[in-house]
Amino acid sequence: MVVRGITFYIDDPPVEIKYLSEDFRLAVNKAIRAGLQSGITSRYKLSNLVYKDLRSEHQIYAQHVVSAIEIAASILKNYRRAIRKGMNPKKPYIKRLMMKAENQAYKLDRKNGEVDLPIRAGLHVKLKIIVSDYHRKYLDNPSYSLGPLTLLPGRAVIAFRKDASKPYMPKAALALDTNEISLDGIFVNAKRKKATAIKSDYSEIPIIQQRHYLRRKKLQTKKAHDRRTMRKLCRKEGRREHDRIKYRLHETANNLLSYAKDNKAIIILEDLTGMRAQRANPKINRRLSSWPRRKLHQIIEYKAEWEGISVIKLNPRNSSRTCPRCGSIKKSRLGKIFKCKQCGWQIDRQINAGINLLQTAISKEMVGGLRFSLDALQHDPVISI
Ligand SMILES: [Zn+2]
Repeated sequence: MVVRGITFYIDDPPVEIKYLSEDFRLAVNKAIRAGLQSGITSRYKLSNLVYKDLRSEHQIYAQHVVSAIEIAASILKNYRRAIRKGMNPKKPYIKRLMMKAENQAYKLDRKNGEVDLPIRAGLHVKLKIIVSDYHRKYLDNPSYSLGPLTLLPGRAVIAFRKDASKPYMPKAALALDTNEISLDGIFVNAKRKKATAIKSDYSEIPIIQQRHYLRRKKLQTKKAHDRRTMRKLCRKEGRREHDRIKYRLHETANNLLSYAKDNKAIIILEDLTGMRAQRANPKINRRLSSWPRRKLHQIIEYKAEWEGISVIKLNPRNSSRTCPRCGSIKKSRLGKIFKCKQCGWQIDRQINAGINLLQTAISKEMVGGLRFSLDALQHDPVISI
């Protein structure tokens, strides 16, 4: 089963929603506090402890109370895990206004885009959600079942579930190295055995990061006398930056996945876990923040899972230093172009890293009987996707 949360904006949310969310948040926080005081860990025991009290103190639908306890239990679980790991977490509580309704605790009219949500016995409220063509794809497909509904100020996130698509038999492979401004690597079609150099550019991201960084810095000087306003404005800048980058990342992931799907290709990426920009200069550290790259992988992976596209992640060790033709490993510093002294092979360093990822996948027999020839790759044009 694959789940995907789809966000809908709510047209003119009724005021009852705000009261319900406030009540819900309070119930979650009460349950968290009770759990902390009694040292209870399981959801079942927490429910036994607080359900009755919460039911009598909050005039909300019984299912919502159950869902509040469930959220509290998972927050407590994360808190305890952090303690076990030796971190020093703050006492948990939820700050933002939210509520979660399990799938049996609300009704969705898929045709008219209307949510029927019980507040308490006998009182229901109707929410009009704004439906675009993008949302229609989910609403109009009856094979997608509904998961929980999460209400946030002004919007609703509805989980759609479907049976995991059976991954197709790969007829091609797309191996990409993830760099600061682009994904680079090769595409190989199993039948034609021909390799094509591929580039997917997102060079706008560091530009956006730099622009917002400068704006925040300016705000910090300009509003130095008023720290509260300064922090507020900086947070707003941060949110804008975040949204803009996320939009670019989704765009890149969508292009990549539709290319893979059209060609029935398997996707090969490097495993970024454990990778950190270790530089002495904090300025460079900031510039090379690995966040967008990790986020991009996350987006690619969950979208691929939904579409039934296989993604393999490999240890990138030596992938930028190895010559894919003769296998020798370079020791000296790398320039923009990878040049092999042993056999004369040369190509863009980042594309070379992608080729090595594919070689590794092939040597580990992860992509079936894929074979390809490196000839011509050096001279053919790079395809942008
Ligand atoms: Zn070589």
